[in-house]
Amino acid sequence: MMSDFGKVFLIGAGPGDPGLLTLRGKEILERADVVVYDRLVSPAILSMCNANAKMVDVGKMPTHHKVKQSEINKLLVQFAQEYPQGIIARLKGGDPFVFGRGGEEALELVDADVEFEIVPGITSAISVPAYAGIPVSHRGIATSFHIITGHEKENAELSLDFEALAKCPGTLIFLMGIANMDFIARRLIECGKDPKTPLAFIEKGTTPYQRTVMATLETAGETIVRENVTAPAITIMGGVVELGKTLAWKKNLPLSGKRLVVTRAAKQSSGISTRLAALGAEVIETPMIETRTLDKPLVVCHPERSEAKSKDLDQNCSADFNALANFDILAFTSTNGVESFFKQLFDAGCDVRVLAGKKIASVGKITEKKLLEYGIRCDYVPEDHTAEGLGKLLASLPADSHLEPNGESKILLLQGNLADDTLLKYLPHATRWIVYETLPVSDLPEWKREAVATADAIVFASTSAVNNFVKLSASADLEFKPLAFCIGRMTESAAKEHGFNTVVSEETTMESLVKKIVEYFGRN
Ligand code: SAH
Repeated sequence: MMSDFGKVFLIGAGPGDPGLLTLRGKEILERADVVVYDRLVSPAILSMCNANAKMVDVGKMPTHHKVKQSEINKLLVQFAQEYPQGIIARLKGGDPFVFGRGGEEALELVDADVEFEIVPGITSAISVPAYAGIPVSHRGIATSFHIITGHEKENAELSLDFEALAKCPGTLIFLMGIANMDFIARRLIECGKDPKTPLAFIEKGTTPYQRTVMATLETAGETIVRENVTAPAITIMGGVVELGKTLAWKKNLPLSGKRLVVTRAAKQSSGISTRLAALGAEVIETPMIETRTLDKPLVVCHPERSEAKSKDLDQNCSADFNALANFDILAFTSTNGVESFFKQLFDAGCDVRVLAGKKIASVGKITEKKLLEYGIRCDYVPEDHTAEGLGKLLASLPADSHLEPNGESKILLLQGNLADDTLLKYLPHATRWIVYETLPVSDLPEWKREAVATADAIVFASTSAVNNFVKLSASADLEFKPLAFCIGRMTESAAKEHGFNTVVSEETTMESLVKKIVEYFGRN
């Protein structure tokens, strides 16, 4: 008999670049009930996790208390018991079975009769050299490679067979070895390895902070001190290291090494986030608002009362899907609107057949595409993809297609609580249903706090984003670097008021702001 416990997935997060997480890993994270994660996992990967998952940090910075391995093992079992049928994701840097102690965790799960699955990850041992242009094997240079832990601090002599390692002709790759590398290099030389063996330290490989420092076996120790090589870093030794001089392909980009917080809603921010990331920055998307699908659509009965916004939601009455029969045209102005409407429709026990014969209108291409996911093709999409264009288009239809003989509108608008009245200007008699609401974000998850606190700057696109960010950081007791890139003068003055050093874009466009950010970091 299978136990009723949740299932634990030991997932490798890869070396840092979020693109190096496996598809299987991502799929599990999106469905996880609990995510137990390590210090080396990047914020970009944490932000892929199910927004409702319980996030448990077991690898705080070295200065903080770190959860002991035996406690982690116990925690996994405990979560599996607490979440029957649940998904517990144990997210580890690189590959879970390469110096990741994944084996120990799996043994504990077997003992406790908890089902588990291993989702391998791309290990840093191979991928970090690859990002530095160093192939771990190469015809004629290295026919084997060896991955070694350099960790056993006091006992390095005991656990490593330096005689054997010194004789080994393959590439040697040390993980966790920076603190002991001086000792390791000297022992290898003593045991006969060529002191001129080329060697590279690769720090924070595959992340925007990646750095390669070249040395030889005999200069290893002094190079670490001089160049201040710090963990996480790997050390790779052997002839293949020379290839890195020719094959290093990862370019230093204008924003390499910069961590930027973008405070727009995730869906809006992707434009600027993608651009900043393409310029080398690590982007922490921290939306200041979130949307929530209402349990049922609410009818905004009278257009005159359409200013009934979030606070007044309770005063509107909930809609009945039978009332859909009164409308011939359904108009959507956002993907959120589409998703929320269909969720409510399905939750009410209906399906798309209730839309048979109706005409469907969408404000633009993205919303149109979202509708297609539900099997619905749009009849009306304005060429300019604006609410104004949509209003004009629908108002210009033959009267009998959208008006009853008595003048009542047959148009239903499906919108969020903050939608403005543009459409109603053109379609004054249309009925509006509010299907989702927009709320200020009221809490920052723990892992985001750390990311925000260590960011180089914060990007604001509206005064409300500034105000909400300040409120949020005060309640989270968060300190951060007060450098703000602002779009528009209004946003800038709000940020100044809160003590930020500000840089403002020339124009109120994202392009202009991105240009400004690049200019700023180019100079500083
Ligand atoms: N399971 C991991 C290794 C865990 S041990 C894996 O398969 O990659 C942690 C060590 O991995 C660090 O001390 C460092 O040596 C190495 N490491 C992990 N990520 C790294 C990165 N992005 N850049 C350089 N070294 C990294």
